[in-house]
Amino acid sequence: MNLSIAIFSLFTSFLSFNWSTTKIYPVNIVKTEADSIKPVEKLSITKAFVLGKFDYKTDTTFIKVSAQHSAKPIYLNKDVYSAFLEMYNAALKDDVQLVILSGTRNFEEQKAIWERKWHRYSILKPIERAQKILEYSSMPSSSRHHWGTDLDLNSLSNSYFSSEKGKAIYDWLILNAHKFGFYQVYTTKENGRTGYNLEKWHWSYLPLAHQYLEFYNSNISIDDINDFEGFEIAKELHIIEDYVNGISQQAKNYN
Ligand SMILES: [Zn+2]
Repeated sequence: MNLSIAIFSLFTSFLSFNWSTTKIYPVNIVKTEADSIKPVEKLSITKAFVLGKFDYKTDTTFIKVSAQHSAKPIYLNKDVYSAFLEMYNAALKDDVQLVILSGTRNFEEQKAIWERKWHRYSILKPIERAQKILEYSSMPSSSRHHWGTDLDLNSLSNSYFSSEKGKAIYDWLILNAHKFGFYQVYTTKENGRTGYNLEKWHWSYLPLAHQYLEFYNSNISIDDINDFEGFEIAKELHIIEDYVNGISQQAKNYN
């Protein structure tokens, strides 16, 4: 408990130092609970939100990640960042340094990624073109990165996590990340998981993300996925069934 208070104090002073000039995020948004996994209050989730059609930079439930934890400007849901900080500090004590490479991406950003790759693979038939992109990138409005709950950590290459340093990081995450609410959702496909390939770097904060997925499955249909090049393929590729829901069994069962 004393340790938790110490970490919290450090975090609070860090926040007040870092953002006092911007006046955007008051310090009192930080939860005093030691537990990073806390029951989430009733959320007001909207279709536009789960489809990524919002501006996280002006959304008060989002916060900019400190340069100490990321290599570029990144935003996350505040509760997710708070849980990440606890995980980060615990990892540091075990000589593991976590770095956030990617956090929230909204519809427009995902659309830019998608369409850049769509043009790159223009030699392929539409369905193969989409499948090629979908090995690692989501269709706009179907990405967990829209939600501010998902992080890419340390390296975007699975082979890195087999190297000495990378394996130590991955092993630590496998052993500990769940204590802070984070789970690898794009696990091996050998047991029948559909969708994206294995991503050892992608970790999802399930206390929030599982609620967003539940809302998504109850409220979003394939007709909501549109407004970018190649969107017509979404139906044929079962984007919602096989990709949005193509997560580990552990993540599916989480609640
Ligand atoms: Zn990712």
